[in-house]
Amino acid sequence: MEREQLDYFRDLLMGERKKVVKIIEGIDESWSKNIRDAVGNVSSYATHIADLGTDSNEREKETYMLDRELKNLKNIDNALKRIHEKSYGICNYCGEDISSERLKAIPYTELCINCKRNEERISNNNHK
Ligand SMILES: [Zn+2]
Repeated sequence: MEREQLDYFRDLLMGERKKVVKIIEGIDESWSKNIRDAVGNVSSYATHIADLGTDSNEREKETYMLDRELKNLKNIDNALKRIHEKSYGICNYCGEDISSERLKAIPYTELCINCKRNEERISNNNHK
């Protein structure tokens, strides 16, 4: 991938990262009191959330959201690492270039559209 394109996607990912961190911090804030009460240690909250129980839908939703955003953050960080290593934009499975349209839609994707479709087909079959 061209240097200019890498810069473009790095900016895109950094923007996404900021958004995700903000969401996580927002959840963290509403959680922090519950967590302090429950475990007395905010620094390792992620591992303790499961122990807090799900006595309301709101909490369940926030746990789900936090889990999802933490995964997003990990994906974004991986993509940034791939940019740094210049392996960004290459399909993890078949080694072909991932189309820039696809990368613009999902900047942290590691699979080209064909491999993604194959993967979905396989996991759909497994669920049946
Ligand atoms: Zn592929």
